[in-house]
Amino acid sequence: MTEAQRTITILGSTGSIGVSTLDVVRRHAPRWQVFALAANTNVSAMLRQCEEFAPRYAVLRDDAAAAKLHQQIRERGLATEVLAGEQGLVSVAAHAEVDSVMAAIVGSAGLESTLAAVHAGKKVLLANKESLVMAGQQFMHAVQAAGATLLPIDSEHNAIFQCMPDAYRAGEFPAEVQRILLTASGGPFLRTPLAELEHVSVAQAVAHPNWQMGQKISVDSATMMNKGLELIEACWLFNAKPEDIDIVLHPQSVIHSLVQYVDGSVLAQMGNPDMRTPIAHGLAWPERIDAGVAPLDLIAVAQLQFEAPDYERFPCLVLAREAAKAGGASPVILNAANEIAVQAFLDEQISFTAITAVIAHALGATELYELESLEAVQQQDQAARRVATEYAARLAK
Ligand code: NAD
Ligand code: MG
Repeated sequence: MTEAQRTITILGSTGSIGVSTLDVVRRHAPRWQVFALAANTNVSAMLRQCEEFAPRYAVLRDDAAAAKLHQQIRERGLATEVLAGEQGLVSVAAHAEVDSVMAAIVGSAGLESTLAAVHAGKKVLLANKESLVMAGQQFMHAVQAAGATLLPIDSEHNAIFQCMPDAYRAGEFPAEVQRILLTASGGPFLRTPLAELEHVSVAQAVAHPNWQMGQKISVDSATMMNKGLELIEACWLFNAKPEDIDIVLHPQSVIHSLVQYVDGSVLAQMGNPDMRTPIAHGLAWPERIDAGVAPLDLIAVAQLQFEAPDYERFPCLVLAREAAKAGGASPVILNAANEIAVQAFLDEQISFTAITAVIAHALGATELYELESLEAVQQQDQAARRVATEYAARLAK
């Protein structure tokens, strides 16, 4: 390894963000040495990635899948060592030889390994917003205590990061910032007649107009719960209160978010909707590198539109803003119930509109815990999952 070469672990390497990260890494070989790749069950995708990137470790969460991968890696004579389970994820996230960790596992499944990278003081590229929504207090405390570098990969938060004054890192919302404007595309159902929403299909819900993403975040974008989770994510990342953040619908997804200053200046970060831009920004920060993204053609875009969100169409936004204001257990319940409801919708057990009903029910009916430790957060998460699962079964089609 040369002096300038950096080692990276990619958690969630077979997913949408993981594959885009490897694309940027590939363009800049040998600048990043892939130390470890980690995913859930996808043996064939992981095997292909091991053949190309020759990581020291490959981790699959699922034991049977890991055993299969181990056998195939041996048959091909590759040097990669295969690990399994949560312990495998945690060990490659926190390993002493790793510089950067891309946290791109989807959902609460990413919490432990992402936090392990933070506790180990890594440069953490955060795509897994759910871990911050669930355990923001513990997460941000660990960032400070361990001296980790936290770089937002969510496109909006990466945009805000690029437009914010450095002062927010001191632990307060900067006095010169008036508001954060968090943009949202509105997803596939922005103009769908309200009466039709109950009957939309999974295929319609995951067909995002501007972004190619994993299934869970695609459904979150259709309900706009994604923007609700991002509101909470932004509060933690930038020391903001929910009242400091406005959500602005911007269907073209060219402006990725904005910061409004007291002198009337509004700084925006723009670009084609391609996650390789924030990924490359996080990987190379504070440098800039080629991300493989086509230059933005403003003449071809021609129009940038903005509108206020419609809370009747997107009730998840109301639930998320209330949870953001309430803090404590509410964001944990919101996130857990959302994961259960979205999975039930993807499994065609409940309708699209029932997603909101499940989350609202869980927020009202889940027993509340004092969230002083990570264990308590996990208990709260489990309690909300039980309530949401039971209610989703009652609403089953
Ligand atoms: P995806 O579904 O495409 O990929 C998820 C990855 O996580 C896969 O590699 C999968 O194997 C892995 N995984 C799932 N469960 C796991 C488990 N229990 N243990 C270990 N690995 C597990 O998802 P995605 O779209 O790439 O999103 C990943 C994260 O990034 C999410 O938190 C999402 O909100 C966030 N994000 C994604 C985008 C995007 O454009 N895709 C944009 C912003 C933020
Ligand atoms: Mg986003």
